[in-house]
Amino acid sequence: MPSYAIETPPVVAIPVAGQDVLFPVRRVYCIGRNYAAHAIEMGHDPNREDPFFFQKNPDNLDPSGEFPYPPKSEDVHHEAEMAVALKSGGANIPLDQALDHVFGYALALDMTRRDLQGVAKKMGRPWEIGKAFERSVPIGPLHRVDEVGHLDQGRVELKINGDIRQEGDLNQMIWKVPEMISYLSEYFTLAPGDIILSGTPSGVGPVRKGDEIELSIEGCA
Ligand code: MN
Repeated sequence: MPSYAIETPPVVAIPVAGQDVLFPVRRVYCIGRNYAAHAIEMGHDPNREDPFFFQKNPDNLDPSGEFPYPPKSEDVHHEAEMAVALKSGGANIPLDQALDHVFGYALALDMTRRDLQGVAKKMGRPWEIGKAFERSVPIGPLHRVDEVGHLDQGRVELKINGDIRQEGDLNQMIWKVPEMISYLSEYFTLAPGDIILSGTPSGVGPVRKGDEIELSIEGCA
């Protein structure tokens, strides 16, 4: 067995609420425009069409509670999202079995360099430069399904310096959690450690240095 040519990168892992264990992360999938009101605010048709996904990197996840303002952007936006963590996976997962693969749920932010994403969109380029930057996914501890059940409804709220900026309900998702899992598994082989960010309600907007961002999702705390 050959040894590694360089020092092995650390395993990315996030805390599990109430337990002294960590959840190791393999991949991070993010759905776009999954709440009608957000699709409309971004200038898109809210009618249900096939979902689309982009990816962030596992090491973009940051459970520290801090978000350093990233370089090369003047317009960094908050997107409040529920993260879904998988304990198992597979390909072509039937809809009625999709939830069996869920380990738990967490609060997450899909922080976005909106100006760079806007240029990428306009030029038909990939979104990574606007999305998959360092520490772009502040994330809370994972709440196990055994503890909180499956979350398919509940108020989502994001405050900045105490003012409500985003509000919605998990039940407003265009593509529900089982549908996202089943759909993704037709295109990718899902596996333990995969995380899916489930989209953001309306009210996205810029953050400034020093802002205090507070996210809550009913049932996920
Ligand atoms: Mn998002």
